[in-house]
Amino acid sequence: MSQKSHHTHCPCQKDTNLEYPHCCGLYIDQKQIPMNAEILMRSRYTAYVMENQEYLLQTWHPSTRPMQLDFEPTKWIGLTVHSHTQSDETHAQVTFSARYKVNGKAFKMHECSSFIQEYGQWFYIDGDY
Ligand SMILES: [Zn+2]
Repeated sequence: MSQKSHHTHCPCQKDTNLEYPHCCGLYIDQKQIPMNAEILMRSRYTAYVMENQEYLLQTWHPSTRPMQLDFEPTKWIGLTVHSHTQSDETHAQVTFSARYKVNGKAFKMHECSSFIQEYGQWFYIDGDY
């Protein structure tokens, strides 16, 4: 058995040298506020990996936020961010693909997510597949 808890790269795979506390952990553990939509999107992916419902709901814009999340038996295995476009100061889109496994079978999803900034904080609105 290997000891994984203290030397794991952040699940968002932004930088293979960055461990969780210095990457998405900064935001999920409320030490900093994500400065742009891509950073928020990466931290939300990591929150899905960790099944952190609280962080996902709190970064979801109230206009589209669900009451609660169901974490299906999904194992997230990889994230690739393809583009990050900021159309104006408070609106941004991030396109990405994420790989996951269900019952040992691998799948890939592709999404263009929309984000809005309010009161200096970015929120997820919704996604187009
Ligand atoms: Zn990360």
